[in-house]
Amino acid sequence: MEYLRLTLRLVLKTAFHTTGNRRRWGADKALAMSADGRYVIPATTLKGALRDGAESLLRAWNQPVCMGPMPTTMCADLDSLCLVCQVFGHPQRPSPLRFQDGRFGGDMDTLIRSGVSISRQRRAAFPQRLFFVETTEPAPPTCLAICEGYFPDTATAHQAAALVALAVRWLSAIGGGRTRGLGWLERGEVEPTLNGNPIPHEELEAFWREWSGGKHVAQD
Ligand SMILES: [Zn+2]
Repeated sequence: MEYLRLTLRLVLKTAFHTTGNRRRWGADKALAMSADGRYVIPATTLKGALRDGAESLLRAWNQPVCMGPMPTTMCADLDSLCLVCQVFGHPQRPSPLRFQDGRFGGDMDTLIRSGVSISRQRRAAFPQRLFFVETTEPAPPTCLAICEGYFPDTATAHQAAALVALAVRWLSAIGGGRTRGLGWLERGEVEPTLNGNPIPHEELEAFWREWSGGKHVAQD
Protein backbone atom coordinates (compact mmCIF):
# COMPACT_ATOMS: atom_id res chain seq x y z
CA MET A 1 0.00 0.00 0.00
CA GLU A 2 1.09 3.55 -0.73
CA TYR A 3 0.88 6.09 2.08
CA LEU A 4 -0.30 9.49 0.91
CA ARG A 5 0.00 12.45 3.24
CA LEU A 6 -1.14 15.94 2.30
CA THR A 7 -0.28 18.99 4.37
CA LEU A 8 -2.83 21.71 3.66
CA ARG A 9 -1.94 25.30 4.45
CA LEU A 10 -4.78 27.80 4.40
CA VAL A 11 -4.09 31.53 4.65
CA LEU A 12 -7.20 33.55 5.39
CA LYS A 13 -7.55 37.22 4.63
CA THR A 14 -10.70 37.77 6.67
CA ALA A 15 -12.01 36.44 9.96
CA PHE A 16 -13.36 32.89 10.02
CA HIS A 17 -16.36 31.27 11.63
CA THR A 18 -17.71 27.75 11.86
CA THR A 19 -20.16 27.02 14.61
CA GLY A 20 -18.83 24.49 17.07
CA ASN A 21 -20.76 22.54 19.65
CA ARG A 22 -19.40 24.34 22.70
CA ARG A 23 -20.98 27.29 24.45
CA ARG A 24 -19.40 30.63 24.99
CA TRP A 25 -20.99 33.30 27.11
CA GLY A 26 -22.15 36.21 24.96
CA ALA A 27 -22.14 34.29 21.69
CA ASP A 28 -25.06 32.45 20.12
CA LYS A 29 -22.65 30.71 17.79
CA ALA A 30 -19.25 29.89 19.25
CA LEU A 31 -16.24 28.92 17.14
CA ALA A 32 -15.39 25.27 16.76
CA MET A 33 -12.59 24.07 19.04
CA SER A 34 -10.62 20.86 19.27
CA ALA A 35 -10.78 18.63 22.35
CA ASP A 36 -7.47 20.12 23.49
CA GLY A 37 -8.79 23.68 23.31
CA ARG A 38 -7.43 24.99 19.98
CA TYR A 39 -9.51 26.87 17.46
CA VAL A 40 -10.00 24.73 14.38
CA ILE A 41 -11.56 24.45 10.97
CA PRO A 42 -13.36 21.13 11.57
CA ALA A 43 -12.38 18.25 9.31
CA THR A 44 -15.97 17.89 8.09
CA THR A 45 -16.12 21.59 7.09
CA LEU A 46 -12.80 21.30 5.29
CA LYS A 47 -13.66 18.07 3.50
CA GLY A 48 -17.11 19.37 2.51
CA ALA A 49 -15.75 22.61 1.07
CA LEU A 50 -13.04 20.78 -0.89
CA ARG A 51 -15.51 18.22 -2.21
CA ASP A 52 -17.84 21.01 -3.39
CA GLY A 53 -14.94 22.77 -5.09
CA ALA A 54 -13.69 19.60 -6.79
CA GLU A 55 -17.23 18.83 -7.99
CA SER A 56 -17.85 22.21 -9.56
CA LEU A 57 -14.43 22.36 -11.20
CA LEU A 58 -14.71 18.92 -12.75
CA ARG A 59 -18.27 19.64 -13.87
CA ALA A 60 -17.13 22.89 -15.49
CA TRP A 61 -14.58 20.79 -17.42
CA ASN A 62 -17.33 18.36 -18.49
CA GLN A 63 -15.93 15.50 -16.45
CA PRO A 64 -18.59 13.02 -15.30
CA VAL A 65 -19.41 13.73 -11.65
CA CYS A 66 -22.47 12.77 -9.68
CA MET A 67 -24.62 15.14 -7.65
CA GLY A 68 -23.89 15.07 -3.93
CA PRO A 69 -24.72 15.14 -1.16
CA MET A 70 -28.07 13.31 -1.57
CA PRO A 71 -27.30 9.55 -1.73
CA THR A 72 -30.10 9.13 -4.31
CA THR A 73 -28.39 11.39 -6.84
CA MET A 74 -24.89 10.05 -6.23
CA CYS A 75 -23.05 7.36 -8.21
CA ALA A 76 -25.26 4.25 -8.43
CA ASP A 77 -22.67 1.90 -9.88
CA LEU A 78 -20.16 1.09 -7.17
CA ASP A 79 -17.79 -0.40 -9.74
CA SER A 80 -17.40 2.85 -11.62
CA LEU A 81 -17.48 5.64 -9.09
CA CYS A 82 -16.85 9.16 -10.34
CA LEU A 83 -13.57 10.79 -9.43
CA VAL A 84 -15.10 12.84 -6.62
CA CYS A 85 -16.65 9.76 -4.99
CA GLN A 86 -13.38 7.84 -5.40
CA VAL A 87 -11.39 10.51 -3.59
CA PHE A 88 -13.90 12.03 -1.15
CA GLY A 89 -16.00 8.95 -0.54
CA HIS A 90 -19.43 7.54 -1.31
CA PRO A 91 -22.13 6.46 1.19
CA GLN A 92 -21.17 2.84 0.46
CA ARG A 93 -17.46 3.34 -0.22
CA PRO A 94 -15.70 5.40 2.45
CA SER A 95 -12.95 7.73 1.28
CA PRO A 96 -9.41 6.36 1.54
CA LEU A 97 -8.47 9.82 2.80
CA ARG A 98 -8.87 10.85 6.40
CA PHE A 99 -9.05 14.59 7.03
CA GLN A 100 -7.95 16.02 10.35
CA ASP A 101 -9.18 19.30 11.81
CA GLY A 102 -7.30 22.32 10.48
CA ARG A 103 -5.51 24.06 13.34
CA PHE A 104 -4.66 27.73 13.52
CA GLY A 105 -1.02 28.21 14.46
CA GLY A 106 0.05 30.33 17.40
CA ASP A 107 -2.09 32.27 19.82
CA MET A 108 -5.18 33.89 18.49
CA ASP A 109 -7.75 36.32 19.79
CA THR A 110 -11.37 35.89 18.90
CA LEU A 111 -14.05 38.51 18.46
CA ILE A 112 -17.78 38.62 19.01
CA ARG A 113 -19.67 40.14 16.12
CA SER A 114 -23.31 40.93 15.97
CA GLY A 115 -25.43 39.98 13.03
CA VAL A 116 -29.03 40.52 12.03
CA SER A 117 -31.03 37.88 10.21
CA ILE A 118 -32.44 39.16 6.97
CA SER A 119 -35.43 37.73 5.21
CA ARG A 120 -34.32 37.30 1.62
CA GLN A 121 -37.90 37.29 0.38
CA ARG A 122 -39.01 40.43 2.15
CA ARG A 123 -35.60 42.08 2.15
CA ALA A 124 -36.34 43.18 5.65
CA ALA A 125 -34.25 42.95 8.76
CA PHE A 126 -35.91 41.74 11.90
CA PRO A 127 -34.30 43.38 14.91
CA GLN A 128 -35.46 40.53 17.12
CA ARG A 129 -33.28 38.17 15.13
CA LEU A 130 -30.10 39.84 16.32
CA PHE A 131 -27.44 37.24 17.07
CA PHE A 132 -23.85 37.13 18.19
CA VAL A 133 -21.15 35.16 16.46
CA GLU A 134 -17.67 34.36 17.68
CA THR A 135 -15.07 34.66 14.92
CA THR A 136 -11.30 34.49 14.67
CA GLU A 137 -9.40 37.75 14.44
CA PRO A 138 -9.21 39.19 10.92
CA ALA A 139 -6.46 37.48 8.89
CA PRO A 140 -5.88 34.77 11.55
CA PRO A 141 -2.62 32.76 11.70
CA THR A 142 -2.16 30.16 8.96
CA CYS A 143 -4.35 27.11 9.39
CA LEU A 144 -2.63 23.75 8.93
CA ALA A 145 -4.51 20.55 8.21
CA ILE A 146 -3.32 17.02 7.55
CA CYS A 147 -5.10 14.63 5.25
CA GLU A 148 -3.77 11.10 4.83
CA GLY A 149 -4.64 7.67 3.57
CA TYR A 150 -3.49 4.41 2.01
CA PHE A 151 -3.87 3.65 -1.69
CA PRO A 152 -3.42 0.42 -3.65
CA ASP A 153 -0.98 2.00 -6.13
CA THR A 154 0.97 5.14 -6.97
CA ALA A 155 -1.39 6.25 -9.74
CA THR A 156 -4.53 6.39 -7.56
CA ALA A 157 -2.56 8.11 -4.77
CA HIS A 158 -1.28 10.76 -7.21
CA GLN A 159 -4.78 11.19 -8.60
CA ALA A 160 -6.20 11.81 -5.12
CA ALA A 161 -3.36 14.24 -4.32
CA ALA A 162 -4.05 16.10 -7.56
CA LEU A 163 -7.77 16.44 -6.89
CA VAL A 164 -7.36 17.64 -3.30
CA ALA A 165 -4.55 20.04 -4.29
CA LEU A 166 -6.68 21.44 -7.09
CA ALA A 167 -9.64 21.98 -4.75
CA VAL A 168 -7.42 23.66 -2.15
CA ARG A 169 -6.01 26.07 -4.73
CA TRP A 170 -9.47 26.77 -6.04
CA LEU A 171 -11.04 27.31 -2.63
CA SER A 172 -12.07 30.94 -2.23
CA ALA A 173 -14.00 30.81 1.03
CA ILE A 174 -14.71 28.40 3.86
CA GLY A 175 -17.02 28.23 6.84
CA GLY A 176 -20.14 30.21 7.64
CA GLY A 177 -20.96 33.85 6.98
CA ARG A 178 -19.33 34.22 3.58
CA THR A 179 -21.91 36.79 2.53
CA ARG A 180 -20.96 38.76 5.61
CA GLY A 181 -17.32 38.66 4.56
CA LEU A 182 -16.19 35.81 6.78
CA GLY A 183 -13.86 32.98 5.80
CA TRP A 184 -12.31 34.38 2.62
CA LEU A 185 -8.99 32.88 1.66
CA GLU A 186 -5.83 34.64 0.61
CA ARG A 187 -4.40 31.36 -0.66
CA GLY A 188 -4.36 27.64 -0.14
CA GLU A 189 -1.36 25.38 -0.65
CA VAL A 190 -0.76 21.65 -0.44
CA GLU A 191 2.45 19.73 0.20
CA PRO A 192 1.88 16.15 -0.93
CA THR A 193 4.16 13.24 -0.01
CA LEU A 194 3.97 9.59 -0.97
CA ASN A 195 5.63 7.21 1.48
CA GLY A 196 7.45 10.25 2.88
CA ASN A 197 8.81 11.52 -0.45
CA PRO A 198 7.54 14.79 -1.98
CA ILE A 199 5.33 14.28 -5.04
CA PRO A 200 6.72 16.40 -7.92
CA HIS A 201 4.42 19.21 -8.99
CA GLU A 202 4.44 17.92 -12.60
CA GLU A 203 2.69 14.74 -11.48
CA LEU A 204 -0.26 16.79 -10.22
CA GLU A 205 -0.24 19.13 -13.19
CA ALA A 206 -0.53 16.20 -15.58
CA PHE A 207 -3.88 15.28 -13.98
CA TRP A 208 -5.10 18.88 -14.04
CA ARG A 209 -4.30 19.14 -17.74
CA GLU A 210 -6.08 15.86 -18.44
CA TRP A 211 -9.22 16.85 -16.51
CA SER A 212 -9.36 20.32 -17.99
CA GLY A 213 -9.06 18.89 -21.49
CA GLY A 214 -5.66 20.49 -22.03
CA LYS A 215 -6.81 23.93 -21.02
CA HIS A 216 -4.38 25.89 -18.94
CA VAL A 217 -4.97 25.71 -15.21
CA ALA A 218 -4.84 29.16 -13.68
CA GLN A 219 -1.97 29.54 -11.28
CA ASP A 220 -2.74 31.44 -8.11
ZN1 LIG B 1 -19.93 10.06 -7.66
